Amino acid sequence: MPSFSFSRKYFVKLFLPPIFALVFASSFLNAPLYAQTIAISVDLTDAPRNIYHAHLHVPAKPGEMTLVFPKWIPGNHRPSGPIAALTGILMEANHVVVHWRRDDVDMYAFHLTVPNGADAVDISLDALTTQDSAGARGPAASSNILDLNWNAVVLYPQGAKSDDVQFAPSVILPPDWKFGTALPVHNVAGNRVEFAPVALTTLIDSPLIAGLHYRQIELSNAGETPVHVMDVVADNEGDLAMKPEDLAAFKKLVAESGALFQARHYRQYHFLLTLSDQVGGHGLEHHESNDSVASERFLLDPSAHLLFADLVPHEFVHSWNGKYRRPAGLATPNYQEPMVADMLWVYEGLTQYLGTVLAARSGLWTPEQYREALAETAAELDHRSGRSWRPLEDTARSVQILRMQGPQWLSWRRGLDYYPEGQLLWLEVDAMIRQQTHGERSLNDFCRKFHGGESGPPKVVPYTFDDLVRGLNEVAPYDWAKHLRERVAATSTHAPLGGIERGGWRLVYNDQPNMFAKATEKFEKASDFSYSVGFSAAKDGKLIDVIAGSPAYQAGLGPEMKLIAVNGRRWSPEVLGDALKAAQSNHQPVELLIENAQFFKTYSVPYFDGEKNPHLERVSGQPDILTDIVKPLAP
Ligand SMILES: [Zn+2]
Repeated sequence: MPSFSFSRKYFVKLFLPPIFALVFASSFLNAPLYAQTIAISVDLTDAPRNIYHAHLHVPAKPGEMTLVFPKWIPGNHRPSGPIAALTGILMEANHVVVHWRRDDVDMYAFHLTVPNGADAVDISLDALTTQDSAGARGPAASSNILDLNWNAVVLYPQGAKSDDVQFAPSVILPPDWKFGTALPVHNVAGNRVEFAPVALTTLIDSPLIAGLHYRQIELSNAGETPVHVMDVVADNEGDLAMKPEDLAAFKKLVAESGALFQARHYRQYHFLLTLSDQVGGHGLEHHESNDSVASERFLLDPSAHLLFADLVPHEFVHSWNGKYRRPAGLATPNYQEPMVADMLWVYEGLTQYLGTVLAARSGLWTPEQYREALAETAAELDHRSGRSWRPLEDTARSVQILRMQGPQWLSWRRGLDYYPEGQLLWLEVDAMIRQQTHGERSLNDFCRKFHGGESGPPKVVPYTFDDLVRGLNEVAPYDWAKHLRERVAATSTHAPLGGIERGGWRLVYNDQPNMFAKATEKFEKASDFSYSVGFSAAKDGKLIDVIAGSPAYQAGLGPEMKLIAVNGRRWSPEVLGDALKAAQSNHQPVELLIENAQFFKTYSVPYFDGEKNPHLERVSGQPDILTDIVKPLAP
């Protein structure tokens, strides 16, 4: 399909009349630098084949001009702006082609000369969305659904602050598709939707999802403000059937967030939820919405429900922790300014902790499911062989290079451990505060003080490590600086399990399956033997990762090798489980037939301790702080 001629055709048809820009420009006269509004119209009718056509009308003065494409994307914390997917770029002024030139070193900058007599540049461009969905892998659209992240289709003047540039956005949807977004709607005419003008900051913070199968669910009680709604799109109409207990849990999630933070920093909130296995999976946080993709059968299948239940609570928590309060290094004035991500163990780690706690407090998980998830997390982190060389903080600082890595040697390299280890770290802080104050105070008090404050429209209040320490000290005086530095900056053989232990529980392993590992096996077709013989394997036997130092590692196994047979019998999780059990009594090494790049070899693994699956076990006589933590706060 020649996208070039395509763009030209749509350019004429969709170009916004100047009156549109004028109408809205008047309401933003106080915007200091770029008072004139950029009109952007995105034609999404080609979404099913993953190409979005955009048209921009950029007010300009004659002379040299540089336009930039957003590079550092909020929530991605890295230079993930999909520049390679930007195509079909055509610029005109007064209907005459304007030649643009990409910068020699900055791939995100385009230089042009605006001709005399012109007061604007008209730009058409296409975003190819086959690979990049909100900064994650996978397509942004399928036959029936789409996700529009505006950073994929905008250009803005170089050097401008994103708060200072105004956009008048509109979209054209595929026929009969319905949409959800936090953007304020100005007018709907057929499948064309015009939104009220907003700052570039708000535009990029306000994705739009749309689909043929769509449902909007009210989560606030009548008359309550701000309003909370869930916009759900799915590949199939039947996927939208939300059970009464899930509806009650999502309403409770809203109530529990209010009880926790006691202030809200948005005018209205949209939970944008996509249910699909056909588009890229992601969860991306925003001030007034979150853009989350769960499995198509999330609302229907108990295994899918278990695995995805904490996704929406996590992204919701970000409205307070990450959007309203943000580490200073991530609070940048525009999308070309590099981000410093060393405090993601707060931005993501505390969110991971609160997201899982709120999943339990709202009833999306039972307390037992919460503990099983925690046991999985604790076991995984405790078996990260890379703990010996890489401190937690380095996983955060390295998000730029770690994010898109595969699972091979994950344990030795370490992954985005600031999420799960951040969860353990904040659980420990919560348990310490509760112990030190004899149950008088908790991390809830810290969240209320640090993330609460006054309710109102979105704003960003940056913080530093010292601010964080000060905030904790206001709740419970302690040498938090020393404690946190030790947790994040030092290497340690074991994961921080202090929160579980202070919480009245301990991490144990036995041959009973962990319910999350079981759901993963059923759902994602991957089996976990990490804590016994030392690897995880896909259904076809391919080793996903091998834990450095484990029995499998000592025997010579590595990721990407393919397990063919166990003790002479074709591999399956059950066959391996039986073999590990037999080895416990007969003390014979397990024989693994492995295919590695077309060559076959049998590896002998002398491992005799049986299957080891993580669970939490109650420590009798100790107060059950963990159960207190997941008790609902809202009446
Ligand atoms: Zn997050």
